[in-house]
Amino acid sequence: MSKTNQNILKDRHGRMLNYLRLAVTDRCNLRCFYCMPEEGIQFTDRENLLSYEEMLRLLRITASMGVNKVRITGGEPFVRKNMVDFMHNVSRLEGIDTLNLTTNGTMSADIVPELKKMGIKSVNLSLDSLDRDRFFEITRRDLFDKVMQTLDKLLEYNIQVKINAVVMDGRNIEDLIPLVQLTKNQPINVRFIEEMPFNGTGRQYEEFKWNHKAIEQYLRDNLPEMTALPFIPTATANEFNIKGHQGKVGIIAAYTRSFCGTCNRLRVTPQGTLKTCLYDNGVFNIKDFLRAGATDDEMRKLFQEAVAGKAKDGFEAEAKRGKVFESMTSIGG
Ligand code: SAM
Ligand code: SF4
Repeated sequence: MSKTNQNILKDRHGRMLNYLRLAVTDRCNLRCFYCMPEEGIQFTDRENLLSYEEMLRLLRITASMGVNKVRITGGEPFVRKNMVDFMHNVSRLEGIDTLNLTTNGTMSADIVPELKKMGIKSVNLSLDSLDRDRFFEITRRDLFDKVMQTLDKLLEYNIQVKINAVVMDGRNIEDLIPLVQLTKNQPINVRFIEEMPFNGTGRQYEEFKWNHKAIEQYLRDNLPEMTALPFIPTATANEFNIKGHQGKVGIIAAYTRSFCGTCNRLRVTPQGTLKTCLYDNGVFNIKDFLRAGATDDEMRKLFQEAVAGKAKDGFEAEAKRGKVFESMTSIGG
């Protein structure tokens, strides 16, 4: 079904939602301390995950409502079997113009040629430290070299790399400037993300020190030649140029939420819950309706109603549900 103005996904604040972030698994081969506890995690049973067929169907339905950009995330996407075949299938769906990926890069070096074949132009690679020991302390796994291999391969294949680094008090502040230096001679964008208390343990800082303003001040103090670029609507990062550098630097105010006004995102969790905001509690479970035999038209109606009720911003969404404690891996990063 081709999209019509009637079934386009628009919320009551006038925002068109054309970007879907699909978390394909809640499992991961790392244990980043800001994302999940080291032990005792209850991962979802296979039958409670959306199947590949269900994911393709939901993407076909949302594409008919104007979703033209999809990001595959998780958990770590490549711990799920046959992920590459699934992604090829997504890349062939009518209406999907942009397919992106967020990965920790530990299992993806050999897959890069396939990513190129499926037309992926940009990959978000999570890398919080260029120091092997600190990488291990943060991720609790000794897989730094694998990530660097993926980074090199992505550059070799001319795929745009955006490095995502979570800024953590007492953990990786000394890595911020070395990470920025990666942008000097390579077309890499490095984006520093405020740490959100989505770690599955409820742990929060007493004082939230490294907010976007503190990150920017720290960078400016160390990089006087850094200049702000205009904010792009629907983007999450405030971007900066550094004179003489090929790549850019970004700061993502994920916790202080300064970018919600132009949000165009929907999220689907590995269990099939539709979230219209990172901070909401989920609107309905897509899997339950698909498995109960809902038609495409019925699904479209559900999506439309869900989207209409999208919160104005992450604060409104959080106020409705209460504090968020779950892990990023079950929300879908
Ligand atoms: N495993 C993949 C990866 O690490 O890139 C994809 C999923 S991960 C949940 C997606 C993104 O969420 C990563 O860039 C990660 O750094 C970020 N993330 C996870 N927990 C976070 C937190 N508590 N605060 C801020 N960002 C977080
Ligand atoms: Fe795994 Fe990504 Fe979470 Fe790290 S951030 S534990 S790599 S899902």
